[in-house]
Amino acid sequence: MKINLLILLSIIVTNSFSQVSKPLPVIDMHLHALRADDQGPPPLKMGLPFDNFGAHDPKNDYGETFMQALKSGQWSKRSTSSPLTDDSLRAQTIKAIRDNNVYAITSGNINVVRKWHSEEPKRISNAVYWDFGIAKRNKLNVDSLAKLFKSGEFSVFGEVAIQYEGYSPSDSAFEPYLKMAEALDIPVGVHIGPGPPGVIYLGLKKYRASLHSAFVLEEALVRHPKLRLYAMHAGWPLIDDLLATLYAHPQLYVDLGIISYDITDKEFYFYLERIVNAGFGKRIMFGSDNMVWPETIPFAIERINKATFLTTDQKRDILFNNAARFLRLSPEQIKSMY
Ligand SMILES: [Zn+2]
Repeated sequence: MKINLLILLSIIVTNSFSQVSKPLPVIDMHLHALRADDQGPPPLKMGLPFDNFGAHDPKNDYGETFMQALKSGQWSKRSTSSPLTDDSLRAQTIKAIRDNNVYAITSGNINVVRKWHSEEPKRISNAVYWDFGIAKRNKLNVDSLAKLFKSGEFSVFGEVAIQYEGYSPSDSAFEPYLKMAEALDIPVGVHIGPGPPGVIYLGLKKYRASLHSAFVLEEALVRHPKLRLYAMHAGWPLIDDLLATLYAHPQLYVDLGIISYDITDKEFYFYLERIVNAGFGKRIMFGSDNMVWPETIPFAIERINKATFLTTDQKRDILFNNAARFLRLSPEQIKSMY
């Protein structure tokens, strides 16, 4: 009797342990493989979320105001500190995706991405972080990118961060890249929405708030009807522009990106609920936009799971099913992730 009870107990423990150790899979469309100092000298504090974005007196230097906020954590009650070294950032991020059963489209410097991939080839899918400056410096032009994609080593073109350079993705300068991605059937993720608050005054002088609008995607979408494209950061906070663009272009998806952890619960839920209420719950994908703060990954997943206005099915769509459909994963691939 005692032995049976022990066996029963061990079965219960094993079962609950296996559920805890392997949660339902999540696809992260927006992870970054960075170096520890890519966002400034560590440790830096990221709000989980930020309660506010401060108030700047222009007699001071905004770079100092911003860095002071990230060093002190003064914009938020709760924050997470970035790891100090490249190795600890990589180790902690890989641990976070393993613990939470996350499969991540991962972008950054292509050699850093390669290193992360070699450590976790099953969960890290290689993506190209790109803008015109990187194209010049690293010779990542249309031809060399096409080679990376054709080889199969890199499978997503994004994050395309040309918003920081003042470009719309519909600009003629970006046209050859869209054409290449459409011809090779490579999904493209474009940054449409928030960078760091006040980023213009941190040196990126050509960034514009008007480029938060999903309307900037329209001409690109019309010119390339076969292209798989997703708007990273879901064009926050220009909800009406986003909804109109999703309505007009049924092939367009979004990822939630940084708004999944850096803006207040109230604003995040308001924005997400609007997209769902308007009928676009099948085209929202999870994207952590984790840069150098691995704790943002479980925090962002949890925030979606805690949304009281979403059904269980809607949560699974956002965390997994929509991305699996967008990426055209096979039933076998999907099965292997559970
Ligand atoms: Zn990003």
